[in-house]
Amino acid sequence: MSKVAWDYIVPIKMPDDLKGVEPGKLSESLLRPIPGGGKLHWLAANAWNAMVAKAKADGLELKPTSSGDLYRSYESQLASFKQRYVLEKIEGTSTKSFEGKTWYLKKGMAMLATPGKSNHNLGIAVDVHSASEPKRLNWLIANVKDFGFSWEVVPSEPWHLRYVCGNNPPPAVVAFTGGQPAPVTTAVEEPKNPNKELQQALKDKGYYNGPIDGNVGPATDAAVKAFKVAHGLNHDSVVGPKVKELLNLK
Ligand SMILES: [Zn+2]
Repeated sequence: MSKVAWDYIVPIKMPDDLKGVEPGKLSESLLRPIPGGGKLHWLAANAWNAMVAKAKADGLELKPTSSGDLYRSYESQLASFKQRYVLEKIEGTSTKSFEGKTWYLKKGMAMLATPGKSNHNLGIAVDVHSASEPKRLNWLIANVKDFGFSWEVVPSEPWHLRYVCGNNPPPAVVAFTGGQPAPVTTAVEEPKNPNKELQQALKDKGYYNGPIDGNVGPATDAAVKAFKVAHGLNHDSVVGPKVKELLNLK
């Protein structure tokens, strides 16, 4: 275990597949359900599940404060924000600027990030239930780093952890998931393009000199026609079964 200072805060390395993604609008393919409810970005989910398992092995229950305290959609963050902040001026309270207006925190309410500004909107933050209980807090201090988490605001938000390791989860997480994570999206193999195959076959036989780009235009048509004339077929550029056979096309 690598015990960290209580004010352990490190910058977030963002997973590659979150770059350019609008906070609060993650596609389902990026999210994974968490046992007990709620979702996290898949890399954060792996790290969280690994950390929960370690806590369990150590005899400690680790769970989110609620299913809404993992990934939050833009709409849910907006709804929570409007429950806590109002436009009517309240003296001596903290404020947030949102949609060009000043919003006032209702008395007795906990602060909340403006919609789209929270790491919960990226699925990489999770709030830990009863995080400030000494036993749990000491366990977190001893373990968060091993699982790629760090705090964001201390000491006022001991519950709020964010996954900071991007595409490179720490060894304890890799061991838990049984290997380096596979990317969500794999490159789609380019489907065979019959037009390109036609152009290549004509080129191989010396009838076509243009680019192999799949764009059938006058040059390809002329090549087909020349090929057909040379083989005693119709004087046109229709690619029928006989032409395919002669060119070894499927
Ligand atoms: Zn939080």
